[in-house]
Amino acid sequence: MLIRTGDTVVVIAGNDSGRKSRVIKVDRETGKAIVEGVNGVKKHIRRSQKYPQGGVLKKDMPIQLSNLMYVCPSCSATARLGARFLENGSKERFCKKCNASAGEIAPAKKAHAHAAAGKTKKPAKASSKK
Ligand SMILES: [Zn+2]
Repeated sequence: MLIRTGDTVVVIAGNDSGRKSRVIKVDRETGKAIVEGVNGVKKHIRRSQKYPQGGVLKKDMPIQLSNLMYVCPSCSATARLGARFLENGSKERFCKKCNASAGEIAPAKKAHAHAAAGKTKKPAKASSKK
């Protein structure tokens, strides 16, 4: 899964299905992400020294990454992400619909630069970038 913190996503399952929001945190170990205003729970707090009024705390709980769809900022559609190597060997995410870059995910590596040069599938567009 290539969703990262700061991405805009649409929730496709659960109580908040259809909601569009921003990823606050991704936990790769559990395969879950915290999304702003999604999967919120209310926790009722008793009066205490810390909360003299008591009351209700709202908290967004992690949601399965598979329940989220990435929203591409370039074509503003929900899209799947791919990963590709650039000519300089760095790795980037890209939108599988409009082919726009969605940001670098790995620094340049010579080994990958070599591999990328031999690939025919790679779009020519990426080569113009430095
Ligand atoms: Zn796109």
